[in-house]
Amino acid sequence: MTLIAEPRTGFTTGLFVDGTWSDAVETFEDLNPATGEVLARVSHGSAADVDLAVRAARAALDGAWGDTPGVTRGVLLNRLADLVERDGEVLQRLEALDVGKPFAQPGMLDVPNAAATFRHFAGWADKAQGATIPTAGYLGTAKTHSYTVREPVGVIGAIIPWNTPLMIAAWKLGPALAAGNTVVVKPAEDAPLSILHLATLVQEAGFPAGVVNVVPGLGGTTGAALVAHPDVDKISFTGSPEVGRQIQKSAADTFKRVTLELGGKSPQIVCEDADVRAAVQGIAMGLFFNQGEVCAAGTRILVHRSHYENVVDALAQATEAQVLGDPFDARTTMGALVNAKQKQRVADYVEKGKAEGARLVAGGGEVDGPGFFVRPTIFADVDNASTIAREEIFGPVGAVIPFDTVEEALAIANDTEYGLAATIWTRDVSLAHTMAAKVRAGAVWVNGWAAIDPALPWGGMKSSGIGRELGCSGILANTEEKVVTIVLQGRFL
Ligand code: NAD
Repeated sequence: MTLIAEPRTGFTTGLFVDGTWSDAVETFEDLNPATGEVLARVSHGSAADVDLAVRAARAALDGAWGDTPGVTRGVLLNRLADLVERDGEVLQRLEALDVGKPFAQPGMLDVPNAAATFRHFAGWADKAQGATIPTAGYLGTAKTHSYTVREPVGVIGAIIPWNTPLMIAAWKLGPALAAGNTVVVKPAEDAPLSILHLATLVQEAGFPAGVVNVVPGLGGTTGAALVAHPDVDKISFTGSPEVGRQIQKSAADTFKRVTLELGGKSPQIVCEDADVRAAVQGIAMGLFFNQGEVCAAGTRILVHRSHYENVVDALAQATEAQVLGDPFDARTTMGALVNAKQKQRVADYVEKGKAEGARLVAGGGEVDGPGFFVRPTIFADVDNASTIAREEIFGPVGAVIPFDTVEEALAIANDTEYGLAATIWTRDVSLAHTMAAKVRAGAVWVNGWAAIDPALPWGGMKSSGIGRELGCSGILANTEEKVVTIVLQGRFL
């Protein structure tokens, strides 16, 4: 076994509030998913800690940060991107250790994507412009000059899931800081370590005190306190639909702006003319990357009947070829699920799939021993009305469904409460565009899976969420539009 050394000491575990580190009165246990052992005891931010963080964020906004020009915010974000790259290996190890994913994967995705996100938004920081708007002057005799400005929303509460914590934190911090907001980040209790290390880099980059605060803690206490806080202007949440629903209801009490990035049950459609080899590779990646703990995982695999048995066989082989094990073993291709609850949840869905009559063609079930491992699993002949085709499993379980016509494939693809992503495998460019227009999803990928980029808006339709992050949409979502009208002569009414 070729083990890559993992860090065992020196985790940052405190609260980062107003530019200083402290320990909370209480702590919670952060487990190592691959062993089930306690990895670190992390500060559990209380409602009072959240209040201090929000006050610090407000003071920074009302103080020097509010007057900091966009170009300077951009310099700071570029510095942060450089520091993420400098500490890339540390962050990569922390992600692998804390989430349970194979060490190589955060080096391919999470770390470079986080750096690229900060760099992308550094470029936006001095470019959020308003407009001058001609008006008709149909009321009274006034001649006016009107223009709009894009102002920061204010104090933003960023609530992060455990599956790709560093990357999602960057998706929220990058546009929020570029647009001039201040932020209180609440990492997930299952994987806070990479974000806490990121906070040390925020400090080193030279962001003023209070601009970024990180308060780790549990969802029902720390997270709920952030959502309920009257001086938070917006909640940017990524996580489960259940919690997203609660957050939207709770945020309504104070009319906070809300962006919700929620779950998915994304289809991968293999058309009659598809490059089947490429499709199978992409489908396996879309099922097993990050142990399938990916919001955009392509878990419903719709295959034209002419390729059906071939694709089922090839996916079964790709599934059996996955190597489960220590995230720090270079041969491991799939790590552990994040916790015991998640392991049980996935195992229960596998049992449900069997009970509902789907054909188990590979994998299935839990792995005994320490750590939260489950076998990657493929079900064929799945009815799109069955539980494993309708509910988000958030684990390495694929459901293969045959179709005969493009219309049928589109109907099945859209017959879901979710609408986050979809992949279409076809060589026909006209068919690709026609189908892309008809799939109800925030992102449609043709001949690839997870073509994400900080420049591209990200978000879902239906129960997959509300609003968009990243790209220009990410900047707009982090600003309020103000209109200023000057009466040049005459008067209104
Ligand atoms: P979760 O909803 O359990 O937790 C997400 C975050 O919310 C955590 O920080 C948690 O502590 C916090 N939280 C929990 N209860 C809260 C409450 N009452 N008030 C405030 N905060 C609370 O989700 P998870 O299990 O961490 O993540 C998995 C889910 O996230 C999946 O559904 C997945 O699809 C989704 N996800 C979506 C995207 C996306 O971009 N759309 C990306 C990653 C994950």
